[in-house]
Amino acid sequence: MNINSISGTSCTGCLECVAVCPLNCINVFTDEEGFLIPRVDETKCTNCGLCVSRCPSNKDTNMNLPLQAFAFQAKDHAVARNSSSGGAAALITNEIISRHGIVYGCTMNEDLKVHHIRITSNEKCSDLVGSKYVQSDFSEVYKTLKQDCESEKPVCVIGTPCQIAGVRSFLSKDHQNLFLVDLICHGVPSQWLFDEYLKWKAEQMKGEKIISYKFRDKTKYDWGTTYRAATATATATATATATADPFYQSFIYAETYRESCYRCKYAVNKRVGDLTIGDFWGVQEKHPEWEKKCRDGVSAVLVNTKRGQDLFEQIADKADVTESTIEKVSDHNSNLYKPAGRPEIRNIYYRSVKEYGFTWANKMMYSGKRYYVNLIKRMIPIPVKKMIKKVLK
Ligand SMILES: Cc1cc2nc3c(=O)[nH]c(=O)nc-3n(C[C@H](O)[C@H](O)[C@H](O)COP(=O)(O)OP(=O)(O)OC[C@H]3O[C@@H](n4cnc5c(N)ncnc54)[C@H](O)[C@@H]3O)c2cc1C
Repeated sequence: MNINSISGTSCTGCLECVAVCPLNCINVFTDEEGFLIPRVDETKCTNCGLCVSRCPSNKDTNMNLPLQAFAFQAKDHAVARNSSSGGAAALITNEIISRHGIVYGCTMNEDLKVHHIRITSNEKCSDLVGSKYVQSDFSEVYKTLKQDCESEKPVCVIGTPCQIAGVRSFLSKDHQNLFLVDLICHGVPSQWLFDEYLKWKAEQMKGEKIISYKFRDKTKYDWGTTYRAATATATATATATATADPFYQSFIYAETYRESCYRCKYAVNKRVGDLTIGDFWGVQEKHPEWEKKCRDGVSAVLVNTKRGQDLFEQIADKADVTESTIEKVSDHNSNLYKPAGRPEIRNIYYRSVKEYGFTWANKMMYSGKRYYVNLIKRMIPIPVKKMIKKVLK
C-alpha cells in the first residue's frame, strides 16, 4: 500500500509524503486541473507504507481549542495598510527575523507562481506579505526544515492548516523553537487556473504581460477584497464581489477549490497551529470601538497553545489589541466551524476553462441571477450598503 491509494478528494497537496519517502520514489505531478499531486514510482516502491501512515489526511493531527482570541492591528499604519487584514503575519515574521530566526512563508515570484520560501533577513520580509489566493507549492519547506528546527534559532512556518498539518507530521516530534501559524482558510484554486486567468486578464489590459498581482490591495479602497493587477504601463483594480472579476468572484463563491477543501478537516474551531490568523470580518459589530480602525484592516488572532501565547506577547506591544472570543470571530467566518460548500458549477468549472478558455468563466459571470445580484450590489454606494447592513442587523 502506498500514497497512490489515497483518494484524489482526500489529498490536500501538502506533499509531506514526498519528503518522508525513504527511497525518494514519490514524484510531484499536476493533475488535470493543475493541482499538485504525489505519485509513487511503483517500480521503485517497496510498499513500506510510511507515506500512507504519515499522511495527515489519513490520521489524526494534534489540534487545540483556542485559549484566547483577539482583534489585532499593527500600530504601524503602513504595515496594516500593506497587509491583507491587520498585519499580524508581518509582525510575526519581523519578530522571528529580528531574533535571527528563520521564517517559511508564501510568496509570488516574477512569473506570478505561488510557492513557499525560506527567509532569514529583513529585506526578504516584504516578499511574504499578502494573501495569495492560489494553492502554494509547499515542497521547498521540507528540504531544510528539520535541520533548521535542530538549530537554536527560532523557526516559524506560516501556511494553510493542511500545510501546517503536513509540517507537524513531517517533523513527528516537537521542537521548542518552532512556531506554527495557520490561516483561517476557505480553500485554494490551482496555479494552472490562475495562469489561465492571467492570460485572459492581460488581454483585457492592452495585451501586455501582467507583472504584479495583489489580491488584497488597499490603495484605492480600504480593507476588503480588492485586487490590483499591473502591467508595465497599466493597472487594474476591482472589488471582488461588487465589480466583476471572474477569478476572484469564483474564488469568493467557492467554485474553484481543490476537491479536498470541500471536506477540509481543519475547518473547525480546534486549530493545528500555535497561532491562527485571519480577517476579523464584522469586528465593528462585535467591538464597535474598532469601527474607525476598520479602514486599514483588522486581523483575528487565535492563540492556541502556550508557545503561541509567548509569541503573541512578543508582538502585542506593536499592535492595537482587544481581547475577543472565538464565537465573535467565527460569526462572520464560517470556515472556523465548517468547510466551504461545493457548488454545482464546480463540476464543470475547470473542464470548461480548459475547453473554452477563461472567456467562459467571464461569460458565466454575466449569466443568470448572479449577474443581476452583482449589478444591484455594484449600483449601491458603499455608505448606503453599510447603512442597510446596520439596519438589517
Ligand atoms: C487561500 C487562502 C484562503 C483564506 N481564507 C480566509 C477566510 O476564509 N477567512 C479569513 O478570515 N481569512 C482567510 N485567509 C487569510 C487572510 O487572507 C489573511 O491572510 C489573514 O487575515 C492574515 O492577514 P495578515 O494581514 O495578518 O497577513 P497577510 O499580509 O495576508 O500575510 C499572510 C501570510 O500568509 C501566508 N500566505 C499567503 N498566501 C498563502 C497561500 N496561498 N498559502 C499559504 N500561505 C499563504 C504568507 O506567508 C503570509 O505570511 C485566507 C488566506 C489564504 C492564503
